[in-house]
Amino acid sequence: MIIRDIATLKRTVRQWNQAGETIGLVPTMGALHEGHLSLVTQARARTQRVIVSIFVNPTQFNNPTDLATYPRTEAEDIALLPDVDAIFIPTAEAMYPEGFSSTVKVSAMAETLEGAYRPGHFDGMATVVTKLFSLSEADYAFFGEKDWQQLQIVRRFVQDLNLPIEIVACPTLREADGLALSSRNRRLSPEARKNAPALHAILQEIATTIRQGQPIAEALDNGMKSLIAAGFGPIDYLACCEAESLTSVTTVFATKHDNGALRLLVAAALESVRLIDNIVI
Ligand code: AMP
Repeated sequence: MIIRDIATLKRTVRQWNQAGETIGLVPTMGALHEGHLSLVTQARARTQRVIVSIFVNPTQFNNPTDLATYPRTEAEDIALLPDVDAIFIPTAEAMYPEGFSSTVKVSAMAETLEGAYRPGHFDGMATVVTKLFSLSEADYAFFGEKDWQQLQIVRRFVQDLNLPIEIVACPTLREADGLALSSRNRRLSPEARKNAPALHAILQEIATTIRQGQPIAEALDNGMKSLIAAGFGPIDYLACCEAESLTSVTTVFATKHDNGALRLLVAAALESVRLIDNIVI
């Protein structure tokens, strides 16, 4: 069932709730690929009703060209979702009617990394995700680790605002050569596509050397050099952070941390296509 208006969505979820059925939400911006579909599979396994939302949210784009060129493939997306209960495709006018004035703002952790390079991005994301949670009355929402900072920010405001929803993290799906699946990959030239897997390979190299005891700052320095040598640029950030708070960690040795407590995150462009990735240390 394709739902384009808010009233129909509300009516539908009310019926499901009255029948005592659990609801899972997978928020997306469309241009669906296997990574998105892995979230849908997890939702299917966990909840009785699954809603996929497709909405290219204008308020989370700080760059108008990025918004204008963001891939839109609605017919293909719908064809990829034969067994979900609802596909919610609202218009920007329905989500942001005249007079709309509210923002969900997460401080500190939303201002670093992606937040520093995309001002307002996480405010827009947090606001639209809060609206989607509210509209869908979902019990669970599924987010990819691919967007690690986004996942941590969503967890934060769900906890802070006591939202009645459980966030489920889903592992990053990768191509065989290690490149994380992303809607932006389709913009890569054949040459750039060949070089793109170096992003993940270099993260792995850095993680290995840190695990072996190399000081973090030194490992990041070497990583930067490798990224430049592999043709990436500009490199917005390459950082080692506490996995949940996203506080930058540069001086301690990773061996003092528990497994999974640290995360490496990177954003770098290849021929003007901006790619992000992250892995556990
Ligand atoms: P997007 O359409 O880019 O906003 O992504 C929608 C959801 O799919 C987000 O929770 C992403 O983290 C997730 N996602 C995107 N790419 C991947 C991937 N390669 N593996 C797992 N999840 C992903």
